[in-house]
Amino acid sequence: MKVVVLIKQTFDTEAKITLDVQGKINKEGVSLIMNPYDEFAVEEALRIKEKNKGEVTVVSMGEEKAQDVLRQALAMGVDKAVLINPALEEIDEYTTATILARAVAGMEYDLILCGWRAIDDGSAQVAGRVAEILGLPMVNMVTKLEVNDGKALATREIEGGSEVVEVPLPAVITAQKGLNEPRYPSMKGIMQAKKKPMNKLGLRDLGLDESQVAPKVRALSYFLPSPRAAGKIIPGEPPEAAAALVKALREEARII
Ligand SMILES: Cc1cc2nc3c(=O)[nH]c(=O)nc-3n(C[C@H](O)[C@H](O)[C@H](O)COP(=O)(O)OP(=O)(O)OC[C@H]3O[C@@H](n4cnc5c(N)ncnc54)[C@H](O)[C@@H]3O)c2cc1C
Repeated sequence: MKVVVLIKQTFDTEAKITLDVQGKINKEGVSLIMNPYDEFAVEEALRIKEKNKGEVTVVSMGEEKAQDVLRQALAMGVDKAVLINPALEEIDEYTTATILARAVAGMEYDLILCGWRAIDDGSAQVAGRVAEILGLPMVNMVTKLEVNDGKALATREIEGGSEVVEVPLPAVITAQKGLNEPRYPSMKGIMQAKKKPMNKLGLRDLGLDESQVAPKVRALSYFLPSPRAAGKIIPGEPPEAAAALVKALREEARII
């Protein structure tokens, strides 16, 4: 069983988002992590490999520093990594999916695993677009996965419950929280990761040029949410303070 996992390097969930002078998201000094949903995807790929034998390859599109998340995946037990640095100024989901799909098309795979969304840009588009470009079935937001006899049985979240679906392989499956508990890389894994293959590709290596991946969507502006107003402290003791609280909730906050 050959599994390819698409992993994105994202801002740390604790990162403080600021805008630079041009009004773009400031990436300077922000700590970066593997997109948490992609960690579930990597863990699931490793479990499938442990059960069915085979190979797991991780692919990330990003700058040189995206190597860190690929090394993390290698240290978890992944066999091979591919870094695609397209060196493009402007990227949208179409660009990303076109490049990733082209890279994966040149590989052997039975299953492609992704996160259901990236926690930074969060469009939840890339996996679906990759599936569409490759002509593969796709199951989104999967919380349980069984792979057997050329088929995948996937449990996915739906409103108020769960749904179990079956798809033939190869397929694209996206990971939702609850799929598994990702492992931490062991010291041995970290040492071994240094010797595992990391293939670095550019746009030309994939037979693509800028015109084929030109974005179709343009971000016009970014803005941060307005700062939250300070909380109000009701002084005094009950019952007067309780009455003042009820009055404030009714007349100022208007929530009761
Ligand atoms: C208008 C617009 C302009 C943008 N301009 C830029 C820009 O100039 N430069 C820039 O860097 N970004 C830019 N972005 C962001 C970029 O388009 C997205 O980060 C990217 O397309 C992935 O979308 P997402 O993060 O929403 O991923 P989602 O679709 O939410 O991700 C789902 C899953 O797809 C996979 N995946 C997503 N991205 C990658 C990746 N890079 N490598 C491997 N797997 C991946 C992962 O498995 C992930 O869990 C722009 C976005 C928009 C909307």
